[in-house]
Amino acid sequence: MKRVGAHVSIAGGVENAPLNAQKIGAKAFAMFTRNQRQWHSAPLTAASIEAFRRNCDEAGFLPEHILPHDSYLINLGAPEADKLEKSRKAFVTEMQRAEALGLTMLNFHPGSHLNLTDEDACLKTIAESVNRSLDATAGVTAVIENTAGQGSNLGWRFEHLARIIELAEDKSRVGVCLDTCHLFASGYDLRTPEAFDATLGEFDRVVGLLYLRGMHLNDAKQKLGSKVDRHECLGKGMIGIDAFAHIMRHPALEEIPLILETPNAEGWAEEIAMLYGFTNE
Ligand SMILES: [Zn+2]
Ligand SMILES: [Zn+2]
Repeated sequence: MKRVGAHVSIAGGVENAPLNAQKIGAKAFAMFTRNQRQWHSAPLTAASIEAFRRNCDEAGFLPEHILPHDSYLINLGAPEADKLEKSRKAFVTEMQRAEALGLTMLNFHPGSHLNLTDEDACLKTIAESVNRSLDATAGVTAVIENTAGQGSNLGWRFEHLARIIELAEDKSRVGVCLDTCHLFASGYDLRTPEAFDATLGEFDRVVGLLYLRGMHLNDAKQKLGSKVDRHECLGKGMIGIDAFAHIMRHPALEEIPLILETPNAEGWAEEIAMLYGFTNE
């Protein structure tokens, strides 16, 4: 079955995320495990962890349907030593928070070279950051998200993702999340079933479909190859609704979280219902 959900709020505590997901008819969800705009946050309390697990159980969300996202402040490829250290520490903390919640994945954006170093040096730094976080935790997979290619952010070519995976010591604990808006912005077309399948085929050839752990379903405000990361509601952007209907019928995309990060949270229930309308489920 297709597992569609959205990146839901944790206002009032992480335990509210599964409840918020259930309210909009989601069968998967994403969330932050802490305030993503701050470097430090209080540790999760035992009560909050227990309530989170109970709420997930009661709503039928399994760990493989939950794709937490790390803080946007973290740059695992930071060229400056102090910022890299800070990012690595924060990322390990987030991996540990995911582990404590009984989750098995953490989604992150690879990182940026800030024009202070070259691409491959930055990819090596990112891979080393991933290796350290895997060493410090157990049972949590680091899920690399492809990016739009804005600024000096890496991860917008499948070759970048493949390079990080190549350098990962434990390949059983690295994965990929494909964001449709980022794919389109970075130049991978998805607009027709043929274009979508060609892009997914290219991903399989360069990275490997076995690494695909989730997708972010977003339409794009800007044109193909714009390198601009601006999400749009499904069917209202430059990708168009056909791509999302095709995803809902695609046999290779079963049982992985398909997460909306579209701009209007009030419209998520409707977008989820629309997506399920494209299937026979
Ligand atoms: Zn995304
Ligand atoms: Zn984005």
